Amino acid sequence: MADRLVIEAGHVVTVDPAFRVIRNGAVAIERDRIVALGPADEIDQRDADVRRFPRHVAIPGLVNGHTHVAGSLFRGLLEDRPDAFYGYALPMEPAMDPEAIYALSMVGISELLLSGCTVMNDMFHHAAETARAARDTGIRAQIAHKVFDADLPGIGKGRREFRFSDGIERLEENVRLHAAWHGAADGRIAVRFGLHAADTCSPALMAEIVNEAGRHRAGIHTHVAQSPVEHAFITETYGCGSAVHLEHNGVLGPDTVAAHLIWADGPDVAALARTDTHVAHCPACVTKAVGAIGPYRDIYAAGITVGWGTDWITMDPWDAMRFGIVGYRMAYGDDQLLTADETLLSANEALWRFTLGSARMLGMADDVGSLEVGKKADLTLIDVDQPHLAPLYDPVSALVYNASGRDVTHVLIDGELVVEDRRITGIDTSVVVAEAQRVAEKIWATASTPAAMPLPRPSFAGAGS
Ligand SMILES: [Zn+2]
Repeated sequence: MADRLVIEAGHVVTVDPAFRVIRNGAVAIERDRIVALGPADEIDQRDADVRRFPRHVAIPGLVNGHTHVAGSLFRGLLEDRPDAFYGYALPMEPAMDPEAIYALSMVGISELLLSGCTVMNDMFHHAAETARAARDTGIRAQIAHKVFDADLPGIGKGRREFRFSDGIERLEENVRLHAAWHGAADGRIAVRFGLHAADTCSPALMAEIVNEAGRHRAGIHTHVAQSPVEHAFITETYGCGSAVHLEHNGVLGPDTVAAHLIWADGPDVAALARTDTHVAHCPACVTKAVGAIGPYRDIYAAGITVGWGTDWITMDPWDAMRFGIVGYRMAYGDDQLLTADETLLSANEALWRFTLGSARMLGMADDVGSLEVGKKADLTLIDVDQPHLAPLYDPVSALVYNASGRDVTHVLIDGELVVEDRRITGIDTSVVVAEAQRVAEKIWATASTPAAMPLPRPSFAGAGS
């Protein structure tokens, strides 16, 4: 194979500062980096392996700012349940053993790669298994172990109990994760410290997590103001919102990624801005779960670094981009649509949030998030020669409003083809899917899982008795 790879595409969407879209463009790659980029006829193709995609759009690999890839377990289970999170998901999680986490991570990461994502930022139980799945698939990943000391299944039953020693054990597992996996897979894997949520970690445990993260110079990944149950508990117990509570405990700062902020109030947004905390917004997940997005007009206006992600259940970035636009428009109404805030709602903005925005949020913008000379060769190719994408006027708008993961044909990470002709190289996804089904059925057969928790009775007009 030649040392130089040139990818030619009908359109190259750079997401560079000028948001350039190059018609008949090309990206030249040497080893893992982009070395040249521009109109195809200006790119040196001598001694290069040239791949031509005249009917494709090339975009930067999508950067998914917040995931739980093993949360694919909950697909089809949680979407229509009241109290899905505390009442159903958290009680089911203890049944997920390391074997299950690996199998479910493999299916979640496969979905990410096949949808065009090249980076994920994950936190879950048995995180070393997710790291192993990241290595085996080739995705670029930041991974944290889920550290908490609350009795999670108890919260759904109205109990608030903390066992500090359990939290310390989980924190020690995060320390071991850092030792084993930080910088692994040719540097594609980095480790953060997981502070599960404002209401599932005691202040004493928060202090220990902050201490370990500082000692390892690692970032923190957390959930903030993600549920009304959390909001009520924190305000009743501490007399402030979740972000302010985390600020009081030293958790906030530029190396902390805080997901959701759905129930954040004015002082919370001020705390995030004051501490330069980075925020992960997961519009598809939160809009489906609670029908609200959170105070994002204020969060954007405060200049907070915000990237977008998918969270769990579905890892589809294209859905998330559309929900991000629609959710914002529904929240702020038509008085915003044609005013100065219009750019917040555009297709360009959605793609930026899912590429360079998330890369900045994760502290990776020097390497990924846009197609620019010197950056990592992480690139996604989308087949636009299809009825639902024709006729092609503005490729960004066409993709953000109409594309799905099934339109992605090729994905490069570090200049290597990780997805080729809609298949993950070196991975048999039929085996991955079968394994996920097998471990999921084992979990579902245990107590506190769907056999004991039938879906709510349908109440729509068409449901006969
Ligand atoms: Zn989450």
